[in-house]
Amino acid sequence: MSEEEFRQASREREIAYWRETNRFCGKCGEAMTVHPDPSECAMLCPRCGFTAYPGISPAVIALVVKEGKILLQRNSHYRATHWSLVAGFVDTGESLEDAMRREIREEASIEVKNLRYFGSQPWPFPSAMMVAFTAEYASGELKPDGTEVIESGWFAPDALPPIPTPGSVARRMIDAFLLENAKGRQ
Ligand SMILES: [Zn+2]
Repeated sequence: MSEEEFRQASREREIAYWRETNRFCGKCGEAMTVHPDPSECAMLCPRCGFTAYPGISPAVIALVVKEGKILLQRNSHYRATHWSLVAGFVDTGESLEDAMRREIREEASIEVKNLRYFGSQPWPFPSAMMVAFTAEYASGELKPDGTEVIESGWFAPDALPPIPTPGSVARRMIDAFLLENAKGRQ
């Protein structure tokens, strides 16, 4: 699937999921109706007028680099044969940067510096928005948390394990890192 097809399919899926989970008004309990204005992607309560818009849950993901190697890990709930980047949902009241540092600390037991925005991608499983960062290792001993992450390591560009398939922002970050690394060697 191309990135554009994925984006469209994501949107359809998210809206279907949102309609399904917003059938009744959260304020007064009345059955919701589709907003009469087609330009409004919203559900409207005919009794109290409450309008509900699709919610998006922000999530963060990072490519952490240490001495030319990247941090990859195997998750217990993910396809266990593939390795991926540190990622997790943002808690209420947290900044994206705080969430990213916390996730890296929790999952990998290390501290990072120089967090930089890389890009973002809607991620409909369900209704998430992946916000991607690059970061540099700062301190600590890499250690998987043992529950969510069962194995982790630093990998050189020429010795990567099976990585996420194309189409994900995780893969885009890894590809960008590989390209930069190849340029650096020329
Ligand atoms: Zn209502």
